Amino acid sequence: MKKKIVAGVLMLVLLSACNRAAPSGPVAIQTELNYLGTVISISLYDEAPASVLEDAFDAVADVHARMSVHEASSEIASLNRDGFLGNASPDTLALIEMGRSVSEASGGAFDITVGVLTGLWDIGGEHPNVPEPAKIVRALGVTGYKHLDADAASATVRFAEQGMAADLGAIAKGYACDEAARILREAGVQHAMLDFGGNIYALGEYPDGSPWRIGLRTPLIGEEAAYMGILSVRDKAVVTSGAYERFFEQDGKTYHHILDPHSGYPADSGLLSVTVVCENSAMADALSTACFVLGTQEGLKLIRSWDGVEGIFITEEKEVFITDGLHTAFSLKDQRFKVVSTP
Ligand code: ADP
Ligand code: MG
Repeated sequence: MKKKIVAGVLMLVLLSACNRAAPSGPVAIQTELNYLGTVISISLYDEAPASVLEDAFDAVADVHARMSVHEASSEIASLNRDGFLGNASPDTLALIEMGRSVSEASGGAFDITVGVLTGLWDIGGEHPNVPEPAKIVRALGVTGYKHLDADAASATVRFAEQGMAADLGAIAKGYACDEAARILREAGVQHAMLDFGGNIYALGEYPDGSPWRIGLRTPLIGEEAAYMGILSVRDKAVVTSGAYERFFEQDGKTYHHILDPHSGYPADSGLLSVTVVCENSAMADALSTACFVLGTQEGLKLIRSWDGVEGIFITEEKEVFITDGLHTAFSLKDQRFKVVSTP
């Protein structure tokens, strides 16, 4: 059984090493470190021409080149420099629009205009630090999705206030994963596992016809290599946002990378992680970040308001809340955690 569990890149690599002779192990794996600030790995379980993996990674490289805030020539970097972007690509516009709908639905808990704030904290960057309160107040003054206009007809994006900055870090990976999955499907691939640094896309089902079994990481710092439960899915994006993913410590306190756009500080809603499951990885990515900021009650409400979206919330008390559609798909492995009935 263990062979089929996939939980992040490390486990994938391990599996490929020990499963090579197994009849239904991956046929080909490609891993890249260069895109969207994370390790990206695609495992094909079907015979397919080598060009299929190349095409999928080309699509990821293209999303990175256009949407990464850290690429000086990207559309987002250009928008942040000039406050305006002309000739915006259709998918950048569509992703910004999608971000806006999740911002509206989450009351601004999710907000891609957190760019100045994320730059200030620089969590995951070279100089992570706790900014001076006055700087946070200033950054909050230039944060707000309502001041970002994206117009598909003229292919333009602009900020209504000076000094604003966008950061697609919470959704670009999800979108790139959707693109890679689309290319694999169009090439006839029926069984594949995509792992974009914790954004999993389980394409089709396991080659023997059973569901993919995905290990949910233990959301505790220092224990992320373990999994606390297993989720069985077919053809679904499974995206987790967690405090353990990216953080730094200062004066004995831990600061993670998901910011509450209302306070300007790392979200502190009592959650260790939120996993969202749906067909669209970009949407799962946006909603998992939104729910992590919102907390259990509000987050569950948000998830339930969206058709075809399910979620697993893990609190600091190690309580696990699961939406109705996932109850039979989830099995708990770490008894320190406790599945409680969903409010
Ligand atoms: P990860 O990228 O580790 O999978 P998320 O998808 O939750 O995690 O995205 C976190 C990233 O999104 C941060 O690194 C930052 O760039 C950006 N971000 C932080 N807080 C927010 C927020 N409230 N809304 C939108 N984007 C955010
Ligand atoms: Mg996200």
